[in-house]
Amino acid sequence: MAESKNVYGRKPGQKLAPLKERLKKLGLSRDWDFVLHLPLRYEDETSVTPIADLVPGVDQQVEGEVVRSQENRFRGSFEAWIDDGSDVLKLRYLHYFPSLREVLKEGKRVRLFGNPRRSYGGELEMIHPKTRNIKSDAELPKTLTPVYPAGEGITQPWLRKRIDRALMDVDIKDLLTEEERQSLGLPELRKAIESLHHPAPGASLEALQEKTDPAWQRLKFDELLAQQIALKRSRKLRETNKAPLMPFPKGRTDSLSFKFYKSLPFKLTGAQKRVWNEIVGSLQSDRPMNRLVQGDVGSGKTVIAALAACQAIDCGYQAALMAPTEILAEQHFRKIISWLEPFGVRVVWLSGKQKAKEKREALKAIADGAELVVGTHALIQPDVAFKALGLAIVDEQHRFGVNQRLQLRAEREDGFMPHLLMLSATPIPRTLAMSYLADVDVSVIDELPPGRQKIETKLLSMQRKEELIESIGQSLSHGAQAYWVCPLIEESEKIDLTAATETCEQICALLPNYRIELLHGKMTPEEKNVIMDRFVKGETQLLVSTTVIEVGVDVPNATIMVIEHAERFGLAQLHQLRGRVGRGSEKSFCVALFGNKLSDIGKERLKVFKSTTDGFEISRRDLELRGPGEFLGARQSGVALLRFANLDTDVDLVEKATHLAQRWIDENDERADTHAARWYESKEKFLEA
Ligand code: ADP
Ligand code: MG
Repeated sequence: MAESKNVYGRKPGQKLAPLKERLKKLGLSRDWDFVLHLPLRYEDETSVTPIADLVPGVDQQVEGEVVRSQENRFRGSFEAWIDDGSDVLKLRYLHYFPSLREVLKEGKRVRLFGNPRRSYGGELEMIHPKTRNIKSDAELPKTLTPVYPAGEGITQPWLRKRIDRALMDVDIKDLLTEEERQSLGLPELRKAIESLHHPAPGASLEALQEKTDPAWQRLKFDELLAQQIALKRSRKLRETNKAPLMPFPKGRTDSLSFKFYKSLPFKLTGAQKRVWNEIVGSLQSDRPMNRLVQGDVGSGKTVIAALAACQAIDCGYQAALMAPTEILAEQHFRKIISWLEPFGVRVVWLSGKQKAKEKREALKAIADGAELVVGTHALIQPDVAFKALGLAIVDEQHRFGVNQRLQLRAEREDGFMPHLLMLSATPIPRTLAMSYLADVDVSVIDELPPGRQKIETKLLSMQRKEELIESIGQSLSHGAQAYWVCPLIEESEKIDLTAATETCEQICALLPNYRIELLHGKMTPEEKNVIMDRFVKGETQLLVSTTVIEVGVDVPNATIMVIEHAERFGLAQLHQLRGRVGRGSEKSFCVALFGNKLSDIGKERLKVFKSTTDGFEISRRDLELRGPGEFLGARQSGVALLRFANLDTDVDLVEKATHLAQRWIDENDERADTHAARWYESKEKFLEA
């Protein structure tokens, strides 16, 4: 109830955009949008609590007569006292419109809804209660009052009226048959919708609030159903495209696939073989592959991507590998050159930071048909024209938006659509895979290469930084290498740099006999490469860095990872960072240094981080702590987020919705279209995939 800003959420004097636009921001334009604009929560205004019985911390309604009201010039607030015969209650308004003085004039009768609390003086008070004048015989509402998601200058009473009108105007035909409803155990649609907007007298506030009420189950199901339909539809659409056929060169010992495979210095793990096999199968089909290879950090995804590229090249097509950062792309580039150039494969480097001449040459080579192109976002710029792109590979796919991923495999002029292979170390919980990724085939590398040692994780207070530096010195003297990562401070790269520079100086001072270097985001790619290179070759022992090394870097000799102010990182990020070590045969350590401003969630995160190195478990816990909204960059991906259903708790509904969506689509049931349109028509174009 208490609001620190203006009650209308707007600075005085600030102009509002036209109503239509503001509504559009809320996804509200058609009548159906209003019908499906369901309450965020409810207020129980069906009863009045005597002031003497008020319980602090709970929303309650009181009614009484104003006995005194005044402006508090000192605080710029407005105060009033009301009496209901049982006791007196103080009201406080930090921001208010002049009209409030009239409403709270001495002797006026008011009804208030709010959350009482004890002031410092011990007096009971309400801050910014919902306040209105009433006649002494005014009736109480019989039902719970809905509170809707609202926006600038859109008031609850206005929304209520507008929604009620939509409820009358719209033909809320239930698309589920009686039989389907029965077997799903769900109530009828109109009834469900109406009871959410206008709960029946005596409805359980708790069941509504927790969304366990059958009416909520129905709406959550419908929302999931719409999402499933849209996803399955986009999959079907994709599958009408033709992809280049790439039969695997089985038994041909002169093929690149064979030669590269034979030349590998290690044996593929069982999981790698299985996933490779799945890819081989997809590439042999003339339907464009849309596959996500998901494997924990260090599980060996790169080699699988390279093997897939070999198949494309063997069949006369080009392959492209796109990575989210210069450093990572460069690493891939070098690795792939060392793997494939010996067999005569032309590997081209393309980056946005290339010099004009170099870039021109790269573009020319790509147009001429160079077999493999590695690079950053530069790969999806309009000036890049492949001769015959057959396979697009996107590493750390969650770093890219959906559109970026798809641009790389955009339909070619000859009408073919390249296959798409995405790699990710961020595990996807099953429900997410079923919903957001319904259009994607997922292959999982659930096995690490043999001989990897478990990474030991330690949590240490920042106060023990010096001690830590000294003990790292010991390890360096035995030939180890270490990363020291300083956190990103959102607001200012400059502060980041200062912090990292200071840390670097401190370490240099304490460990004068070692080569220590600083790597940060402000450096040019060349500078970064030179420094990275020295670290890879072992010329540098300790690398202090801002988070630029977060993804993908592979230096097997590095066995120590220090993460300064670890509490400022998300779990997935911490896991990624830790994955930079433990890549060789020596035992590795990860030290999470935490500052003294540790929130409860921060504490919980670090505990989880220490307790497990299993990416799946980490992701599951992360989801618990954070909610699924941000997963997979869903926010920027254009995938409609779920408003009502919760992928963690509604697993059951997700499964049911998946099945029904499949059935409707298989049977060409036109209900599928009608249903999806209700939910998505005026939303942003749903999932371009
Ligand atoms: P990620 O899955 O995190 O991208 P990489 O592809 O970078 O992992 O592989 C990590 C390291 O493991 C690399 O040095 C790679 O050459 C090596 N590697 C990959 N597969 C195997 C394997 N089957 N056996 C041993 N080492 C492997
Ligand atoms: Mg990788």
